[in-house]
Amino acid sequence: MSLTHGPLTHQFFERAKEVLPYGVSSNMRYWDGGGSPVVASARGGYIYDFDGRRYIDYRLAFGPIILGHADPGINQRVAEAIQNGISFASTHELEVRAAERIVALCPSVDMVRLVNSGSEATMHALRLARGYTGRDIILKFEGSYHGAHDQVLWSTAEGDRAQVGERQRPTGSKQSKGLPDVLRSLIQLCPWNDVEVLGDILQERGEQIAGIIIEPILGNSAAIMPRPGFLEFVREQCDQYGIVLIFDEVKTGFRIAPGGAGEYFNIAADLSTFAKALGNGFPVAAIGGKKEIMLNLIWGKVMQAGTYCGNMVAAAAADATLERIQNGEVFPQIEKVGRMLMDGIAEILTRHGLPHFVHGTPGMFGYCLLETRPYDWRDLMEADWDTQAKIMSHMVNNGIMCENGPEPFFLCAAHSEADAAETLEKFEDAIKSVER
Ligand code: PMP
Repeated sequence: MSLTHGPLTHQFFERAKEVLPYGVSSNMRYWDGGGSPVVASARGGYIYDFDGRRYIDYRLAFGPIILGHADPGINQRVAEAIQNGISFASTHELEVRAAERIVALCPSVDMVRLVNSGSEATMHALRLARGYTGRDIILKFEGSYHGAHDQVLWSTAEGDRAQVGERQRPTGSKQSKGLPDVLRSLIQLCPWNDVEVLGDILQERGEQIAGIIIEPILGNSAAIMPRPGFLEFVREQCDQYGIVLIFDEVKTGFRIAPGGAGEYFNIAADLSTFAKALGNGFPVAAIGGKKEIMLNLIWGKVMQAGTYCGNMVAAAAADATLERIQNGEVFPQIEKVGRMLMDGIAEILTRHGLPHFVHGTPGMFGYCLLETRPYDWRDLMEADWDTQAKIMSHMVNNGIMCENGPEPFFLCAAHSEADAAETLEKFEDAIKSVER
């Protein structure tokens, strides 16, 4: 991806590079084709750089912004809450209120623990699955990302296609130096959406597996949707082998529907992890699940801890954001604008004779340039990502902030139909520039 900075933005990013490795606080934010995105301020569906350039933002912090940047109502509730203190080492009312709302919205969640990030949520969920079952192995699917901790940095969307082995016998591709090789024995990979390979793996070692962690929509791989019956099959197999089913709803939670994927697909996971849209950008996350499993989080059983877990900022942001979602004011707008974009992108690509697929839901969708429909990350890697990078680079240099590669577009309630129309116009310009 190649973003050309204006003079002030360039100057600022040079300063950032002096003290932040590569100018960023997370590897995910670094673009190696040119300047990385830089923000001076943000409001609603827009971000602004240091040269005053406005971008319609579809990265939305990789998903958390569900209402809009700097939503005045949420910010005010947080500001009011912190007048009464911030962190306590004690239970307080707002964390209970936030948990009550999560339980009310998510059909399979009886109880909740608040944590600080998606990675923290999945890390604890895996330990809880292991502690509850007394087994060690975790099954994860290729092309999914579950956070930055050692247990799950295997065969993510950035995986090396040459390292993942045969479809029937997948081997883990390490996503980072520094992952101890011994961890390989604790993780079983599986291609997404493939009931045959999953069934075979479980037949062989289902009784050794503590948990299956799954993104119900492949949010880190262009939002590929599950085939009809796939998630149901995963649920049945977990029941058959006594495996804890963990829905990683860090991206889908409170984004694809008020009750996330649990509601959208009507499937009850045993545990679910939430973050992102839960707090409209404030750092808050949660692990939720069945009471019988969650009650293992106690001294002598399974450890879950964190100094900042459930702090006032996080709890107030979650309480206020979920209240807005419960009021029903968020989804109609996202559905309308997101659908306009999904349909518009498909229509433009068809008109220009580019074979493609658009996948996902209006709140979170991706597209790829490919002749046959992708059902998993292996298929997706066959798409024409070089052309897509040129299209997306043209977009970002013309005021549409989006991602190249398999990270999806995210919508928020502040995006308007006018934003979608402008985006589609720029998308068509980008296609024309690639055709030239
Ligand atoms: N799970 C999923 C599905 C994610 O998409 C992400 C982040 N992109 C994470 C977990 C990790 O969340 P965090 O970055 O808050 O640690």
